[in-house]
Parts: sequence; C-alpha cells; structure tokens
Amino acid sequence: MTQPRREVLEKLTPVLTKRWLSPDAWKIDVYERLDGYAALKKALDVHPDDLIQLVKDSGLRGRGGAGFPTGLKWGFIPQGDGKPHYLVVNADEGEPGTCKDLPLMTYDPHSLVEGIIIASYAIRANQAFIYIRGEAVHAARRLRSAVKQAYAKGYLGTNILGSGFDLDLVVHSGAGAYICGEETALLDSLEGFRGQPRLRPPFPAIAGLYASPTVVNNVGTIASVPYIVLGGADWWKSMGTEKSTGPMIYSLSGRIQNPGQYECGLGITLRELIELAGGMKPGHNLKFWTPGGSSTPLLTAEHIDTPMDFEGVAAQGSLLGTTAMQIFSDQDCPVYATWRWLEFYHHESCGKCTPCREGNYWMVRTYRRILSGEGTHADLDTLLDTANNIFGRSFCGLGDGAATPVMATLNHFKQDYLDYIEGRTAPRLSAKSLVGA
Ligand code: NAD
Ligand code: SF4
Repeated sequence: MTQPRREVLEKLTPVLTKRWLSPDAWKIDVYERLDGYAALKKALDVHPDDLIQLVKDSGLRGRGGAGFPTGLKWGFIPQGDGKPHYLVVNADEGEPGTCKDLPLMTYDPHSLVEGIIIASYAIRANQAFIYIRGEAVHAARRLRSAVKQAYAKGYLGTNILGSGFDLDLVVHSGAGAYICGEETALLDSLEGFRGQPRLRPPFPAIAGLYASPTVVNNVGTIASVPYIVLGGADWWKSMGTEKSTGPMIYSLSGRIQNPGQYECGLGITLRELIELAGGMKPGHNLKFWTPGGSSTPLLTAEHIDTPMDFEGVAAQGSLLGTTAMQIFSDQDCPVYATWRWLEFYHHESCGKCTPCREGNYWMVRTYRRILSGEGTHADLDTLLDTANNIFGRSFCGLGDGAATPVMATLNHFKQDYLDYIEGRTAPRLSAKSLVGA
C-alpha cells in the first residue's frame, strides 16, 4: 500500500464526516459538545428569507446526484399561499456503489435532524419527513432515537427554543424499492400508494406531498446546512470550485487498497482519490470506473485526471451523480459488470412505462446469451438499438440509468463483447442462465 503524499492528504476536508470517528456522536449530549445545535440557535435568530439567501450565496448544490442549486429550490416554495409546506429528506440511497448517506445517518444522525429543522424554518414547513430505505434498519433506528432526543430537548415540537416555530419530524421506512428514491415515486409511497414516478412538471416545489409545496432534498444536502449557517457562505465556497462549491463525500469501492468514504473539496481528481485510498490493489491496473454510480456513463483510465466536480465530469461526457466511484481493473470484465447492473435495473424497473419495462427485459436476455457464449454479432446492434430506444424515452431516470452502461461499454469496450461472441473469452454464465431469461 502506498502512503498518500502530504499535498494529497491535505485535500481531505472533513466537514460532514468530521464526527464519524467520535465515539457516541449519535447521542445528543455528545453531539451538543461537538458544536451540535449551535447552528440551529443561530438560524432561529435569522429571517427565513435570509437563510434561503445564505444557502443561495453558498452555491450549495444537491448531493443526491442531480446537483440542482439548493437555495434556488427552496426559493421556489410559494410563500403566503395558505397551503402547508413540507420538507422531505430523500434517504432512500440506492444507486449501486453509493454509500455516503447511510454512514452519515448512522454516525451523525443529529446533523441531519439539525439541518432539517433549519431548512424547514427557512421554507416555513411545520412538518418534515425522512424517507429512509427499508433495508437501512440500523440507520433508521439511530434516526428515530435522534428524533426522540431532539423532541426531549425542545429542538423539535412546538415553539422550538422559544422561537414560535413548530416542527414535527417523522422517520418513515420504505420497503426496499430502488424506484422510491425517485422523488415523485417517494412522495407517492409516503402517501401510502404504490411508489411510481409522477409526471413532472409540476415539480414537488409546487405540487409535492399531498399536492402541497414540498422540498425534497438528499441527506447530504440537508446535513450541509448547519455547517453553512455556522461557517458562512464564503467559508463554504473556499472548498471546491467556482461552480461546484463545498466538500463532497466520495464513495470509493472496487480494486483499491482502502475502499471507503473520502470527503474532499469538489474538483479533486480520481488519481488523487486513488492515492488517498492507498493506491490500486497489487497487480491491478485501472481499466474503467463510474464517476457517480452505475447510471452515470463510465469513464476509462485515460480520464483519471478529470476534476470530480459537476462541470469537470460533464466535460468528459459523463455526470458527477452520487460520486459513487466504482473502480474496475484490467482483471474485470466490462460486459459482465454491465450485465450485473442491468439485472439490478431490470429487477427494480417499476413497470410503468414500456421502454424501461420491456427494454430491460430484452437487454438482460441478450447479455445472458452473450455471457454464455451464445451471442451473435447481431446482438450488439440489437443492444445498442434497444438502449437508444430506452434512453430519453423512458418516463423517469431509471430507464436512462439502465441504458447508460450498455451504451458506454459498447462505446469503450466493444472488443470485450466481440471476444465473447468470437470465442476468445470463455463463457462466464452457464447455459442454465438462459432458462427463463
Ligand atoms: P432532476 O435534474 O430532474 O431534478 C433535480 C431536482 O431539482 C429535483 O428535486 C427537481 O424537483 C428539482 N427541479 C428540477 N427542475 C426544476 C424546476 N424547473 N422547478 C422546480 N424544481 C426543479 O433530477 P432527478 O431526476 O430528480 O434526479 C436524477 C439524479 O438522481 C441523477 O443525477 C442520479 O445521479 C441521481 N440518483 C441518485 C440515487 C441515490 O441513491 N442517491 C439513485 C438514483 C439516481
Ligand atoms: Fe418505471 Fe422504468 Fe418507466 Fe421509471 S423508466 S417509470 S422505473 S418503468
């Protein structure tokens, strides 16, 4: 394992992760000793509109994948409309490779609760929800305990800290469907319906939960807010780049020495992140990687110096997404990896629209055929045609996400496909995998 150079080590900026290694930081008294709820006390003395302006000035962009400006989203909530407003935290983290929200909620749940109270005060919401994925049982337990403690201390409930502001917060566990991470499917699920995406517009900011104005924000986005309130917009902007401000939690997995979460200013490169992670595993050379989960177009070794910010990754034709960086080496097969992702998307497709429901079914069949040594050259044209008909024609982003690795690997690694079809690579699946496919 190689030790990172000092100049690379200095790129670590623990902000949202700073309490993760503090014992018992999930307990409210420990959290309070570590600056906890100081931002809330400060925020309640500020006019809600000024808080929205502060978040706009900080340049904070959504940490759930799309990078939409947070302050702008908050500003969309109509004021004086007489309707209830809601804040819903999307904690349904499910994108393959993504694991930044789960540790945050487990080790530092109060930072999320504190952010929720501040954000709700800013948008004038008196009811907030955390929608957490069903499998995250331990994190949900921690959150429920944090919420209970916050009520007991007067940070939640009526007349919070004597400010006249009331807020109730409910932790709601989903049932383990990836599609419920799509914000409108999440809202349907929260309302008690089957979780399927709604047509947008209207966006949730106008007609969200129970058709009322709703801000849906990712865990990392909301957990950033207390730090911005305490540190100020300029401090936040001192990390990251001009258009992609602040620190970001990068989730590194795969063929590296130390997989895990690395929080650094936006704009760090994969080369530097791999160095922070102790280098590639012995005998492995970088071949391809996902910048932000499997639904972002994968990049190759030649993109190792891409700045990992919204603009830098977009300039390479990909997306920053969830900064879930899955690192594959020359010992990994891009065709096999794509098949594994596709099985996931096929399984998670909600079935509402034809391109995604049917297209994924056919693509999975085709991959199984290729990987069992039964593929033909025509299969590659069929795959590309199917992917092209899913991408941009599906009802929500899941369809695009499924088509993306297919298109990307056919673009970068066509030879790997041909090696299966022409018999140079041994089949990875048995003929049995075709039964029922
Ligand atoms: P999007 O760009 O359509 O929207 C982003 C946010 O901005 C949404 O909250 C949306 O309501 C809001 N918005 C956009 N335009 C608006 C407007 N004109 N008025 C009001 N609000 C507006 O992206 P999306 O489809 O919500 O999310 C896609 C992203 O989700 C992808 O980039 C992907 O990386 C990510 N993703 C994350 C996970 C995860 O586990 N975290 C899983 C799957 C996908
Ligand atoms: Fe459902 Fe897939 Fe269509 Fe999204 S793209 S609505 S997940 S079938």
